[in-house]
Amino acid sequence: MYAEVLIEYNSKTIDKSFTYLVPEDLKKILQVGMKVLVPFGNRLINGFVTNIVNDFNDDYEVKEINCLVNKEFVLNKELFKVAEYLKEETLCTKIQALQTMLPSALKVKEQKSNYEKLVTYIVACANEEEINTYISNNEKRPKQIEILKKILEDKKVIKKEIMGSSLNTLLEKGLLKEVKEQEYRLSSGEKQENDLKLTKEQQRVIDEIDFTTNNTYLIHGVTGSGKTEVYIKLIKKVIKKGKTAILLVPEITLTAQIVERFYKRFGNDVAIFHSALSEGEKYDEYLKILRKEVHIVVGTRSAIFTPLENLGIIILDEEHTESYKQDTTPRYHARDIAKFRAEYNNIPLILGSATPTLETMARALKGVYKYLELPNRVGTSRLPDIKIIDMAEEVKQRNFIFSSVLKDKIKDRLEKQEQTILLLNRRGFSTIITCSNCGYTYKCPYCDITMTYHKSSNNLRCHYCGYTVLKSDKCPECHDATLNYYGLGTEKLELELKNMFKEARIVRMDTDTTSKKGSHSKIINDFKDHKYDILLGTQMISKGLDFPLVTLVGVINADATLNIPDFRSGEKTFALLSQTAGRAGRKDLQGEVILQTFNKDNYILNCVKENDYKRFYQYEMNNRHKLNYPPYYYLCSIKVSSKDYDLASSETNKVKKYLESHLSANTIILGPTTASVFKINNVYNFQIIIKYKKDDKLYKSLKELDNIFALNNKVNISIDTSPMRI
Ligand code: ADP
Ligand code: ZN
Repeated sequence: MYAEVLIEYNSKTIDKSFTYLVPEDLKKILQVGMKVLVPFGNRLINGFVTNIVNDFNDDYEVKEINCLVNKEFVLNKELFKVAEYLKEETLCTKIQALQTMLPSALKVKEQKSNYEKLVTYIVACANEEEINTYISNNEKRPKQIEILKKILEDKKVIKKEIMGSSLNTLLEKGLLKEVKEQEYRLSSGEKQENDLKLTKEQQRVIDEIDFTTNNTYLIHGVTGSGKTEVYIKLIKKVIKKGKTAILLVPEITLTAQIVERFYKRFGNDVAIFHSALSEGEKYDEYLKILRKEVHIVVGTRSAIFTPLENLGIIILDEEHTESYKQDTTPRYHARDIAKFRAEYNNIPLILGSATPTLETMARALKGVYKYLELPNRVGTSRLPDIKIIDMAEEVKQRNFIFSSVLKDKIKDRLEKQEQTILLLNRRGFSTIITCSNCGYTYKCPYCDITMTYHKSSNNLRCHYCGYTVLKSDKCPECHDATLNYYGLGTEKLELELKNMFKEARIVRMDTDTTSKKGSHSKIINDFKDHKYDILLGTQMISKGLDFPLVTLVGVINADATLNIPDFRSGEKTFALLSQTAGRAGRKDLQGEVILQTFNKDNYILNCVKENDYKRFYQYEMNNRHKLNYPPYYYLCSIKVSSKDYDLASSETNKVKKYLESHLSANTIILGPTTASVFKINNVYNFQIIIKYKKDDKLYKSLKELDNIFALNNKVNISIDTSPMRI
């Protein structure tokens, strides 16, 4: 008996299985999809069993599998298919695909630690009679008696609770013994909440969904329209039939609240996955699925790869979210994987959003997806009133950060004991530091980007590569002491706010204040419990959060995303501002939103103001049509990078020539241009964009290109077949 084993070997050229002999002790248990340790060269490495065969005739001597790595883990057939799909779609290797799909603890690599958390318990070893006899013979040893009585009563006691010399004596005498049991690190607590009675609109959406076949549905529901409640109901229905469900959520901030909601409604039937979990926690959650102890997975992007069997529904909440796209190899979009798995299982896929991507909306309007709408908020709650404030006018009154309207409204909310959320999509203190004598501007020496001043750590940081220098008082060029700090970051906003509202309780949420484990949920829970009056932060705070006392949302700089040179900047701005606005007035209190801008007549901002997605959609579709962007064309981006500028440049030109001679005539090839950040970490980046409608030669050519560069260690090529931005 032989097994074909796919191993990890860090090269694109090796992406195949090797054959090994199955040792006697594994013959009965070895299955396709298991992880094994095999000899390769002169070391032992991990691999996946991809096939088991009885015969193997080749000349060379076959080595034997060393051992099984993890008895409980088997990659099922569906996930093998997913890996195949991932490989084809993103041009990665099969082993890269498999690695991406697994939590760190199960990836193929040198297994360092045992991930199972074991708890030591004490149980009886002697029988009850013997123990009772011991108790009556040892009346002068109260400690020991206490322990024995506890064991007789509880049967099993955690060792930590009764540790000490008395316990040791009892263990030595053989009356008691230790047992180790695995314990999950995360648990839900008790189920608490009963179901809400759905509104007519919610019920209508649910009635439209056919669980028996594969369709994609778009639930287009305004913020606070009760989408999450619909998801819960759909999942309940699926579980009732004994099936399972995956719910994908955008980011960790959002997961905190959603997970809490799911724990309350489903108890320990839920496994959760997101990047803030420890390796051990992820491993535990994965085991719960392998052991079929949960029916529901709630998680971020990579949760789409969890091995739930008998899937009944997949839901992507906030489908427009950029974090569903992975930025490193394999560059997949969770929506595509979700579609693949929904088709494979012949089940519905639900895409939910208040601000769907144009691609999704276009498909819904064409009838490719079924369009379901929740146009109103639940109950008496109305969408917030949105005002646009012209900052050009405010600056004349010397209001640089807060317009007088926003200032007054914050004050008003503080008096009324209501809460405020402020969005500023830039962290740090000042974002541009220049010398007024010689004009020098601090830039990262490795990246083509200005450095940001962080006051709390008193240093300048590059937000791309992390390069950090201490703040100095003098210009490094001319040694003049006239450094100026411009540009506003969240850190400075917090300080300004504290100076303006001395009594207010203010909390900031951005990457800098949430690096510690658990800090996200702490900020969110404290804000929910009204320990703070104002929450300020970056886009982290824009999505999904549901706080009934928030009646004011202020966007300090609504233009930030508008000016990014990207075809999606309009869509991103609309989504970010609508989502942020959606945090206001979600329950009984009416909400208000202030958008501060230097572009008061901007079309997109005015669509946000009117809560008019459809008008935004028409306008933006028109732009995309004119410029041949998605959804009218598909995109593919190719990045060529090297530490050697000339080499990067000349190789990019070669790539372009190659594409021109290999792709269909009506495919558009743009570039080469320098990438949006030209230099990162001393590496120069060039870019070529391909726009196409249908090109049968594209994937084949891309694969060839990729192979050509696989052996080049001076120039790197990265191909993104579904870029979210360019
Ligand atoms: P969305 O996900 O669309 O933003 P949510 O599901 O979070 O909306 O609902 C918004 C608020 O309305 C939440 O506080 C939720 O508990 C409440 N809610 C949703 N559906 C109902 C319902 N049928 N009855 C009462 N309250 C509801
Ligand atoms: Zn840098």
